[in-house]
Amino acid sequence: MTDQTSQLYKSEAFLRKPPYLFRFEDWLAAQIWIDKAVSSAFWRKHSSLRRVYLVPNKYDKKKWMTGGVPVDGRRVGVISHPRRTSLRPRLDAVQHELVHVALGHTEEITNAESHGPDFARLDLAFVRHFFGKEAEAELKARFLKWGVEF
Ligand SMILES: [Zn+2]
Repeated sequence: MTDQTSQLYKSEAFLRKPPYLFRFEDWLAAQIWIDKAVSSAFWRKHSSLRRVYLVPNKYDKKKWMTGGVPVDGRRVGVISHPRRTSLRPRLDAVQHELVHVALGHTEEITNAESHGPDFARLDLAFVRHFFGKEAEAELKARFLKWGVEF
């Protein structure tokens, strides 16, 4: 893992602790939240994709991944979630993957390529939108402290 990627993960870690920690009831609840998020004016500013689907990861039981596949001739976003269905998905994980979807990242892109300054910049905007401006300020402070370029 590159420095930028590991420092970015480290910077985001506070979002999985109170007061920001949020777990969906189940995968369906997460999908319903995504449907609402991608129909928002905020999402339309950042992506032309109108559908983002949560699907179980075929390849890796533990990993989150992002992809785009055509359905009926139109591209849709795909977020592969870890197959451990006993895990209730966390909002911060779904939000992180939505940033990848908005940037058009697919499964082929490497971690190093996908967590560069463009990711970090959009991550700040998404965190502001979904977690609030205090969370954005905290994330920005961590980026600066740990040398995440944005
Ligand atoms: Zn990522």
